[in-house]
Formats: sequence, structure tokens, C-alpha cells
Amino acid sequence: MSRVYNFSAGPAVLPEEVLKEAAAEMLDYEGSGMSVMEMSHRSKVYDKIIKEAEADLRELMNIPDNYKVLFLQGGASQQFAMIPMNLMKNKVADYIVTGQWAKKAYQEAQKYGKANCIASSADKTFSYIPDCSDLPVSEDADYVYICENNTIYGTKFKQLPNTKGKTLVADVSSCFLSEPVDVTKYGVIYGGVQKNIGPAGVVIVIIREDLITEDVLPGTPTMLQYKTHADADSLYNTPPCYGIYICGKVFKWLKKRGGLSAMKEYNEKKAAILYDYLDQSKMFHGTVEPASRSLMNVPFVTGDKDLDAKFVKEAEAAGFVNLKGHRTVGGMRASIYNAMPIEGVEALVAFMKKFEEENL
Ligand SMILES: *Cc1c(COP(=O)(O)O)cnc(C)c1O
Repeated sequence: MSRVYNFSAGPAVLPEEVLKEAAAEMLDYEGSGMSVMEMSHRSKVYDKIIKEAEADLRELMNIPDNYKVLFLQGGASQQFAMIPMNLMKNKVADYIVTGQWAKKAYQEAQKYGKANCIASSADKTFSYIPDCSDLPVSEDADYVYICENNTIYGTKFKQLPNTKGKTLVADVSSCFLSEPVDVTKYGVIYGGVQKNIGPAGVVIVIIREDLITEDVLPGTPTMLQYKTHADADSLYNTPPCYGIYICGKVFKWLKKRGGLSAMKEYNEKKAAILYDYLDQSKMFHGTVEPASRSLMNVPFVTGDKDLDAKFVKEAEAAGFVNLKGHRTVGGMRASIYNAMPIEGVEALVAFMKKFEEENL
């Protein structure tokens, strides 16, 4: 068996320890005589798995009691509709468009009410986060929406926008659990787990209780109402049981590593190795304004398409996989999520140095 250094943007690298544990428990989970995939979601054994997952996440993120934690399906993209359907009481919402995922959410919301784009970084291919200290927030906005870490472009909000008292809703798919957050600053925090936490298909929604009401847009399906899932502790129907089990294991792994402050320190160290190299390289350079750089997704280019392609190909042969950039940005992108060890980033930079020497 040989594991590669996987720089995929998602689904992405998971902690090896977690995968090994899951493998060991595959045929017989804790003496139950069956796999977690095979057991009833109403069983005592499973109840413990989902309850512990929630408790560990609450501890990691310091989630206050007046927030619900929901384990849902449909990925992050389903939330693009669920958020307006549940929260657009006035049928007005403000969106900050800092990339494709934010844009998709913004476009989806237009189906349900008046969605306003109050700031955007489209003018420079989403290579920065706009100043959000004094935006024209709509007086009757039900919420202000951001995508906190822009997976494709490699930017991250270093400061949350001034929402002027309006509820903040954030897609944190690609920065989930990468650093501490103050949950009280948000009405809704949500993310697909396949970037930093677990298997695709699970989306975790952390939502303030007063936002969970029966007063949703007419026609909202039962399955798309937060209240349905909140009232049933995420067990209204069969949840993505196995995915939640893996998420739970990753939460325990994070706790063992010292929680989110320790992860932030580690992630900053990892990202600095790559950014420091990019800043002095004569061949490679980052595509993002330094003040907006993400700790999780690092896009870079050589400025020459053929050279980019050569690099991606040679890197893959050397065991550094999924480095090809998103088709809208080109070049390369190294996603260095929580589970990417620092050794992986060091080895990548050593490989880049060698490539630079050989090809400059
Ligand atoms: C990947 C991603 C999504 C889409 O997630 P799905 O689970 O595929 O719907 C949405 N937002 C962000 C920020 C992402 O990185």
C-alpha cells in the first residue's frame, strides 16, 4: 500500500489514523457484529455515535446552547436553496459575491426573493476579499450571506463583514474547523464536510434557534425545513449514518491534536512554508492578494500554460496528486486542509524548488 500526498480541493485528504480506525471497525463495530453502514439509525449503538459527534463538535467550536447542530444531506449546494426558503421572511437578502460558490448561492436565492449583490470581487477574478466594513446593507434584509473561504480562488475573509445588525450566514465548507470561530457572530454556519471533515454528502448546519421557525416560504418541502430536522435531532429520516460516523472520528482526532487553536497554529505554519516559497520564487507565483490569502487553498501559476501542465504531470508522477487548478483559474492549486501533514507541504516545496532549478 502506498499513500500519495493528495492536494485535492474536495473530496479531500482525511487523517490516516481515522481511516485506519474505520477500516479496523468495518466488519464489527464495537462488538455489535456489524458495520456502522449496516445498523439501524434508531439503534442504541448508532445513537451514541451521532450524539457523541454532536457533543464533540460543540466542544471543538464552543457552540452555545442556543444553537442547533444539524447533520443533513444534499451537500453544501442544497443549502443555497434551504437558506432563503427558511430565512427569507421579508424576501430580501444581501450577498457578498467572492467566488463561484457565493455566486451560485446568490443566483439560487433570486428564485425565492430579492437577492442583492452588495459587494463583489469579480472585477479581479475573485483574487481578493472586498472591504466589507461599510456596505449598503438593505434595511429589510433577512440576512447577509458570505462564502468565508473561497475554495476555487484561495481567498478567505480575515474579518467578518459589518452586517449592520443583520443575521450573518456563512458557507464555511473549505475552512470548517481549520481555526477557532466565534459562533455567536453568525446566525447560520454551514459546510459540506468533504473538504475538511469527512465523506461527501453530509452537510453540517449550525443555526441559532430563533431562526428555526415554521414561518418558511410557502411550498417549502418538509425535508427542506430546518425545523423538521431540529425537532428530530437530525433523525427525521435516515441520516447519512456512515458519513456522520467518520465526521465523529475526525472530531475526536481534532480534539486529540489540541483543538482548533492548535489546528490554526499548524495550518498557519503549513501555509507559510508554501507562501514564503511562492513569494521568492522566480517561476511560481500566488494569484491572491496577500491580505486575503486562504490557509486552506493555495492557487499558483508559472504564467506559462505549458509549463503549468508539465509541472502538474511531473508532480503527479512524484506522488503529489490533484494539483491542477480549477478550470476557471488555470495553473495549480494546493489544498492543504487539516489532514495534510506538514511533511507533505515541505516535500511539495522541495519538489517545486527542484522543478524551478531544472526548468528556469
Ligand atoms: C465544495 C463547495 C461547495 C459545494 O459543495 P457540495 O457538497 O458539492 O454541494 C459549496 N461551497 C464551498 C465553499 C465549497 O468549497
